[in-house]
Amino acid sequence: MGEDVEALKRRLPLIEYLRQHNWKGSPVGRSEFVGLCPLHEETRPSFYVNTRKDVFYCHGCGQGGDLIRFIQLSRHLSFHQSLVCLGPQTITADAVAVLELAAAFYQQQLDCYPEALRYLYQRGLHDHTLIRELEIGYAPGGILRRHLAAQGYTFDLLRHVGLLNEQGADAFYQRIVFPLRSGADLVNLYGRSIGTAFAHRFLPGAKGGLYAWEKVRNCPAVILVEGLFDYVVLRQAGFPNVTCSLGTHLNADQFRQLCDGPRTVYLTFDVDANQSGQQAAEQLSQRLGAHGIAARRVLLPQGHDPNSFFVEGGNAQQFQSLVEAAQP
Ligand SMILES: [Zn+2]
Repeated sequence: MGEDVEALKRRLPLIEYLRQHNWKGSPVGRSEFVGLCPLHEETRPSFYVNTRKDVFYCHGCGQGGDLIRFIQLSRHLSFHQSLVCLGPQTITADAVAVLELAAAFYQQQLDCYPEALRYLYQRGLHDHTLIRELEIGYAPGGILRRHLAAQGYTFDLLRHVGLLNEQGADAFYQRIVFPLRSGADLVNLYGRSIGTAFAHRFLPGAKGGLYAWEKVRNCPAVILVEGLFDYVVLRQAGFPNVTCSLGTHLNADQFRQLCDGPRTVYLTFDVDANQSGQQAAEQLSQRLGAHGIAARRVLLPQGHDPNSFFVEGGNAQQFQSLVEAAQP
């Protein structure tokens, strides 16, 4: 369940909601109340509310659950409609809530699809703690819509946030999915194809700031890479001070983040035959310099990006030497 829903439930405990709706309960034990069930006709109280767990259960009709569930049952609403009826804050949070649910769902799927894990291993990522920390998931395709529809989300909303295409198929079909967060807020999802489909994709809307910026913003030296698979191999190799711009072109937010304090930025873009990565690094280095930020270009061997460097046998010590040899 999305963080917004959790935040909402913290703001409005079930017992408060019930009292606002004239439910009268008598205390039984330390954190339980019992009263007449609002969901079915009865004369002897069998509706219990546990304030510690913030849930209800009725021994008469057998219904139980949390605040959202209670609203669904008492007002005959979908999950989605129940959130909406809890106030305007939840309406704006709706798209975020559905993204959180999708991200959590994709994360659950990852372990069920050997081809997805195989792809991660091929790209050099095998640290399961890191995979979990980054909330990496997999979109097998075909089952997201049913999963979210069962929780009351409409096709229109899923289309609107871009999780489904016009035909109703998963936008991330057979892609590894990385949630992109700004602090705790989910701003987008990034998908990387494990097959032959168009390599990668974002949902419509901003890609947000630098990846996992909160982790590195206080580091005096930051390694900037262009791809998330570059990011993961460096993190796995023990470099904590890495961030990623998801492409060589930084948006205004990302550039501002790099300039928000004194630091040295080690630009580690691809060294490809057409020189586009290095040209981008050179331009960025100059722009950063003009803003008083020291930039160094880490030169990988010809034809390499940080990912291929590690996948093809490079190690942390060798990479550290390249960082130390980096040129302005
Ligand atoms: Zn009942």
